[in-house]
Amino acid sequence: MPATALDTAFQKCLNSACGATFGVDEVLTACPQCGDLLDLNYDWDRLPVPRSLRDFEAKWSNRRDPLDYSGVWRFRQLFPFAEDRQIVTIGEGQTILQQSDSVAGYVGMDTGRLHLQYEGLNPSGSFKDNGMTAASTHARMVNARTAACASTGNTSASLAIYASTTRLFRVVVFIGSGKIAFGKLSQALDYDARTIQIEGDFDDALARVQEVARERGIYLCNSVNPFRLEGQKSIMFRVLEALAWEPPDWIVVPGGNLGNSSAFGKAFAELKQLGLITRIPRLAVINAAGANTLHQLVNGHGVRWNGGTPDTARIDAFFDKMDADNHRASTLASAIEINRPVNLRKCLRALEVCDGVVREVSDQEILDAKAQVGAGGFGCEPASAASVAGAKKLRAEGVIAPSDRVVCILTGHQLKDPDATVAYHSADREMFDKKLGSRGVKSAAYANSPVVVPNQLEAILAALEA
Ligand SMILES: *Cc1c(COP(=O)(O)O)cnc(C)c1O
Ligand SMILES: [Zn+2]
Repeated sequence: MPATALDTAFQKCLNSACGATFGVDEVLTACPQCGDLLDLNYDWDRLPVPRSLRDFEAKWSNRRDPLDYSGVWRFRQLFPFAEDRQIVTIGEGQTILQQSDSVAGYVGMDTGRLHLQYEGLNPSGSFKDNGMTAASTHARMVNARTAACASTGNTSASLAIYASTTRLFRVVVFIGSGKIAFGKLSQALDYDARTIQIEGDFDDALARVQEVARERGIYLCNSVNPFRLEGQKSIMFRVLEALAWEPPDWIVVPGGNLGNSSAFGKAFAELKQLGLITRIPRLAVINAAGANTLHQLVNGHGVRWNGGTPDTARIDAFFDKMDADNHRASTLASAIEINRPVNLRKCLRALEVCDGVVREVSDQEILDAKAQVGAGGFGCEPASAASVAGAKKLRAEGVIAPSDRVVCILTGHQLKDPDATVAYHSADREMFDKKLGSRGVKSAAYANSPVVVPNQLEAILAALEA
């Protein structure tokens, strides 16, 4: 009898001194023995692992099968925790890798060397669908009746779309007050999720939802959920696929809760372990300056993965001081406005695996980069543009060479946060200052302001000539 996922996949504590393991039929968001994060592991020796990544191309001829159509589940042999009949998919992962020479020029790269991975093209408009399809699958495996998440917006939009299209479970989303971009809030409401707005910020909402989930046995879909991160590995598989399986030199990704960066590092470590790639790209994780915990810990305090034993005392002292000072995250890039990244330890491991670097960028740099991404086509929300702003910074420092092949992950769709975009391009100084000035944004070098004219043909024709 062939092995089933229940035999060959298991959850394992990230803390090597503990190393406790649990079945994939258990619902856990932390190790019950030591409290560390959990990871999915597989008995690869007992599984049908593809001999070459090219084997995945055969799936394209089988696109009528929803699992092979999905840009996530097409790669399910690389995260085999579910049986095919249990998988929940809504056709996520139809995203593209686009060479952008205009953005390459802005970043300071040679023509043809910069690529943008447009994860905003997912069903709910952000990369979160890559993970939520996997978390929804696990929720179905364990017969969850209610699922919940705390969110800066995109996680709730994603969870809500999976629940409303499949009707497999109810959804409760927790959001902070006044911090959520309207495009995202509108999705949770429209997709019929029960939405609880807490008087506090994201870090508060996450702490509360974890309590509520424990109290009521609700299935938790934040990125502490290890199944979610398995789905997010597929972003890297699609990047490799688009580059004909040749790893790029750099992956640049915004860092919020650090789920994506963690998943990317795990993906590459596993591909290498399985002999499917020989070279691992370097990883650059980009914080917003107003939410720069990772940057401070790595570049300021020298915290490293350190073979699985990062300097916990130093990390704890950092957070104690943050609490004592009541220091709150503050950036226009609301999707990464997070001061207590839950996947910090996994991200440290990813930085180790990928010889990674961390940088911070200001809201000014983010919005300028965002305008350049938009002018080059497709567009993105502010948090996503941190990747491009970060690549520009690393290029200026000489860490990235002009001839390197660089992939910036655009995590969310342009329409998620139209307020920030309109304010940036607006000629109305009052509007600009109200939305952006308070965040230290002083100028809009790439503004494309609407031209105001009287309702009169001559004036309009004159405006066209200008
Ligand atoms: C969630 C999110 C991020 C942050 O990703 P993490 O995995 O939490 O680091 C960045 N950009 C967008 C658009 C997001 O929705
Ligand atoms: Zn443990």
